[in-house]
Amino acid sequence: MNHDSPKIPQATAKRLPLYYRFIQNLHSSGKQRVSSAELSEAVKVDSATIRRDFSYFGALGKKGYGYNVSYLLSFFRKTLDQDEITNVALIGVGNLGTAFLNYNFMKNNNTKIQIAFDVDEEKVGTVIGDVPIYHLDELEERLDLKEVPVAILTVPSSAAQGITDRLAEAQIKGILNFTPARLNVPPTIRVHHIDLAVELQSLVYFLKNYPDASDEKSE
Ligand code: ATP
Repeated sequence: MNHDSPKIPQATAKRLPLYYRFIQNLHSSGKQRVSSAELSEAVKVDSATIRRDFSYFGALGKKGYGYNVSYLLSFFRKTLDQDEITNVALIGVGNLGTAFLNYNFMKNNNTKIQIAFDVDEEKVGTVIGDVPIYHLDELEERLDLKEVPVAILTVPSSAAQGITDRLAEAQIKGILNFTPARLNVPPTIRVHHIDLAVELQSLVYFLKNYPDASDEKSE
């Protein structure tokens, strides 16, 4: 996220990539305008929230017209820094890490995993999905944080904090944490935590306790 849009609330900012992906699809299918109702149906966010979100960045839909797709697209590109590729490092090339290296993220985003680290000698020195894997001992030496400001952590949780401390020392900007560990970082570093087991458990809990999905809408 660039720094020209400090007034956008965080909850709104988190929805931007979702909107962006859909607007990209609309744009490539040649659509020129979209209503908040259509957007709402596609991204499963209620239309009042969409209108409020869009009002923060000056996209004021007109009644009976909707929003201009090109305007939205250029706004999202600029705001999400999508004109430039953001390079990402991945640490921990286990099952999940390997899946990310093979998937990479170029299809939907301009983020790319450029470099990976592991401690397993069998993995070090190999390349998966075009991404070279180095030994974690070489982290500081190999990782140019001006070029690679973001790291994905897919290591065992016992290793997560130690690696985070090294990344913090090297002044990484953001960490996407897939381990169950809660990470301590200085306030200058942003951590987003995705605990897949907890998310799955929570989904199952909601299915059991709120079988009618419309009872509880997640953010
Ligand atoms: P696998 O089946 O390959 O072990 P996994 O996802 O089940 O995958 P984990 O034990 O979660 O395995 O480890 C994930 C990856 O993190 C493995 O490739 C492991 O070698 C690596 N790893 C373990 N400790 C560290 C560490 N301190 N630094 C970097 N990578 C590590």
